Amino acid sequence: MKSYRKELWFETKTRRAYINITPQVEECLRESGIKEGLALCNAMHITASVFINDDESGLHADFERWLEKLAPEKPHSQYAHNGFEDNADAHLKRQIMGREVVAAVTDGKLDFGPWEQIFYGEFDGGRKKRVLIKIIGE
Ligand code: ZN
Repeated sequence: MKSYRKELWFETKTRRAYINITPQVEECLRESGIKEGLALCNAMHITASVFINDDESGLHADFERWLEKLAPEKPHSQYAHNGFEDNADAHLKRQIMGREVVAAVTDGKLDFGPWEQIFYGEFDGGRKKRVLIKIIGE
């Protein structure tokens, strides 16, 4: 069995962002040489997500509105977590959007349906953060 590991780094200027990382994951898969197996992609931070959905800007605006309804950023004082930090909303948003995805690798490709894309969801940006890519198989 082969095993491949890589960290992808991100630093968004905005507090929240959705970045399509499918091309980088496909690059990792090529680099790994693995043809059959599984690819795990997970955020290495507890205020960011990795998830699969459609690359459509209207949907991303809908995510933003929906998450702000569920866990509004402000006022910061509404959250018990915000004693020394101001990112309680980011922890909650990440919890909803998920930590990781696992994609099947078939014939050297991510075995996706027609509209599936992998996203990095940032909820507390403005600093360097990482996504782990782990691919196993043969
Ligand atoms: Zn925090």
